Amino acid sequence: MTIFVFLLGLIFGSFANVVALRVNTGESLIFGGSRCFSCSRRLRWFELVPLVSYIALRGRCRSCNAAISLQYPLVELASGCIFLLLFVFTPRGVLGVLPRGLPSGFLLPFVFFWLLLILSVYDLRHQILPDVLVGAAAAAAILVVMAEGIRDPKLILVHGLAGAGLFLFFGALWFFSGGRWMGLGDAKLSFAIGLFLGPVPALVALFLSFWMGAVVGIGWVLTHRIRTLKIPIPFGPFLALGAFAAYLWYLPLIEWYLRLVV
Ligand SMILES: [Zn+2]
Repeated sequence: MTIFVFLLGLIFGSFANVVALRVNTGESLIFGGSRCFSCSRRLRWFELVPLVSYIALRGRCRSCNAAISLQYPLVELASGCIFLLLFVFTPRGVLGVLPRGLPSGFLLPFVFFWLLLILSVYDLRHQILPDVLVGAAAAAAILVVMAEGIRDPKLILVHGLAGAGLFLFFGALWFFSGGRWMGLGDAKLSFAIGLFLGPVPALVALFLSFWMGAVVGIGWVLTHRIRTLKIPIPFGPFLALGAFAAYLWYLPLIEWYLRLVV
């Protein structure tokens, strides 16, 4: 079963690549087969098998020999790992957002983090978080909270406040920096994340994403020898990664942090 979930994640990763490439281009997400970007040759079915085809083709197109972007296998692998980790580690009913005995709600975290993966890829490529994808993530979060609300209606309020809190925080960063530190898209995404996670994991996610962002940002400045506040590193992937880690491990993370500082 675990292997099946991982393979399913790989397949969804393959689709994530398609969505990240085609969203806002007017191309259909479902119709129109994938093509080589260099020679436009339509790919055969066996060239679309996640990971395996990349390895079998040694990262090159079969007819024109152009290098295939490493993005494809990496996103597929990331998606497989997301599915696998969610399946193994999802906190069942403990303050988390997985509703007990609701099969429809069970799939939502997979959808939510799959969307966050696509958003991260898009943000890395274009330095922007498209509204249509952020909206989809917010919709998944709203469904999760509604499913939770059936069990305990006050959770709707609590999760709603967490979403609003994160949005106000990132919205203020966006407003007062004139969009230099944070985009409005980051604020919108943080709303979806706060709503999905609820207050405590949302705070953990916030800390994690800022720590990771700071480490990578400092590394970038050190390796590029540029003194500027405007670093071309999008924040979306850090938000996504922070949210994922916080969703699965916010309790152990809090314990670890407290032991570190106390
Ligand atoms: Zn080609």
